[in-house]
Amino acid sequence: MTITPSDNIKKEIDENISNKLISEIIRNRIQLHKKRFHANDNISEFINPGELDALQNEVASRIRDLLKSLVIDIDNDHNSQETAERVAKMYLKEVFKGRYHRRPTVTDFPNASNLDEIYTLGPISVRSACSHHMVPIIGDCWIGIKPGDKVIGISKFARVADWVFSRPHIQEEAVMLLADEIERLCEPKGLAILVKAKHYCMCWRGVKEPNTSMINSIVRGDFRHDPSLKQEFFELVKNQPNGLSCY
Ligand SMILES: [Zn+2]
Repeated sequence: MTITPSDNIKKEIDENISNKLISEIIRNRIQLHKKRFHANDNISEFINPGELDALQNEVASRIRDLLKSLVIDIDNDHNSQETAERVAKMYLKEVFKGRYHRRPTVTDFPNASNLDEIYTLGPISVRSACSHHMVPIIGDCWIGIKPGDKVIGISKFARVADWVFSRPHIQEEAVMLLADEIERLCEPKGLAILVKAKHYCMCWRGVKEPNTSMINSIVRGDFRHDPSLKQEFFELVKNQPNGLSCY
């Protein structure tokens, strides 16, 4: 009797003998599941153990090509010899880790004391890069919560914010994605987020305006329906020592 390998195993074998780039294999998987892989999406569920190292090597070789196209002598310039490897590692393990790594584990607890007052956290440092120019966006984030039935430890907000922002973004979408993630984690009755950030595509290039920051906010649930609650959040943020003097 002939045993036919399952479609999955067949596919795995095909992938192994196809000499495809690892990015192509991962991309094909995502497309097979009809999922999005925009710059600010997390694609970690489509990356198998060990593949991230292969992806990092592939990215390094592309950056080496980029440096060559910029006519930089990567063979003889001692400052540029390891640049491709350093940048690839920085992208995959640090500044864009929120695309390639899974969300940090967050445990929720029941809101045992039925806490019903709003609380505000911040500033939480956020670091991203703009999707348009791939240069840094660095700023602060404040989060206001009116708890529901679940609560999470306050340090977890900083970890989740770091994970969401560590992708190429535009600021408005980053704030929305962070709000979605917090709602998923602790289902608050109300949520407010405010981000104030400096965009290096404005200070380093283009108009070269070093002092401009972009501020944007999102309010959901009770913060949206109750203007006094929304006001309370913005007042709390404004009154912090390093709060929003220009807000
Ligand atoms: Zn930009």
